[in-house]
Amino acid sequence: MSFFQIIDPIFQSYVLFNAPVKQLATGFDWTEGPVWFGDANCLLFSDIPNNRILRWTPGSGLSTYREPSNFTNGHTRDRQGRLISCEHGTRRVTRTELDGSITVIADSFQGKRLNSPNDVVVKSDGSIWFTDPHYGIGSDYEGHKSEQELPCNLYRVDPATGAIEVKVDDANCPNGLAFSPDEAKLYVADTGRMFTDDPKHMRVFDCSDDGDLSGGAVFHVVDTGASDGFRVDTDGNIWTSAGDGVHCIAPDGHLMGKILTPEIVSNVCFGGRGKHQLFITGTTSLYAVALNRRGVQWP
Ligand code: MG
Repeated sequence: MSFFQIIDPIFQSYVLFNAPVKQLATGFDWTEGPVWFGDANCLLFSDIPNNRILRWTPGSGLSTYREPSNFTNGHTRDRQGRLISCEHGTRRVTRTELDGSITVIADSFQGKRLNSPNDVVVKSDGSIWFTDPHYGIGSDYEGHKSEQELPCNLYRVDPATGAIEVKVDDANCPNGLAFSPDEAKLYVADTGRMFTDDPKHMRVFDCSDDGDLSGGAVFHVVDTGASDGFRVDTDGNIWTSAGDGVHCIAPDGHLMGKILTPEIVSNVCFGGRGKHQLFITGTTSLYAVALNRRGVQWP
């Protein structure tokens, strides 16, 4: 059995025919939020229902990075190398400083508590962009069951003032997000309410240097599952989670191929030396596959 499904012939050159999809670790309940730390040669990721952040290191494997984690979900790094995390349990976005202390970046908007920040990216100007669907407050499984106070928005945090502003207010449940390599486009997944006919698609916005968004048309409709999380490679292709593995979407929105996995995938990130390893958080396991593409991954 091949690990790859070629839909557009060009996808053959994006993958390595003899590179396996390896299971690096297993025994989790729902993993998300992989983020690569090249300086520490390790990957961090969330095991949300078990309220912990785990660390995987080539050669020495799995260890615990933080437990309890306040039910963290998505992570990224800012340009100073600091960990930025979405926390369901405390309904906030935080930064872990280099000395280990935690700084709250956002926990409310106009006096109302955020829902459960899900995924986050940092633009090169230092602005922090995050989505705030309600998945983490609907039950006690991935956070704490509690009342929703705000619509499910996408927010931007200003790098100079720390002010929080709504950037997308017409999504059902905004989830994964990523900028194109030149940051002129922002891709945002809408994963809707599970077990419903809510659209499961990805939208694309034009993003000005000042962070103004326009457009927002549907860019791609996922054929299986949902685009919970995704990353772009240096050519602008989008590697997104889906119900049957990872899908590779061209900049024009068409599906080029799939990396097939035995479990539903939640998120991906590039890492490893050369930034050509794609780390994949599946339902109960962490996987990785070497690609013939390099990710936009800082640092
Ligand atoms: Mg997500």
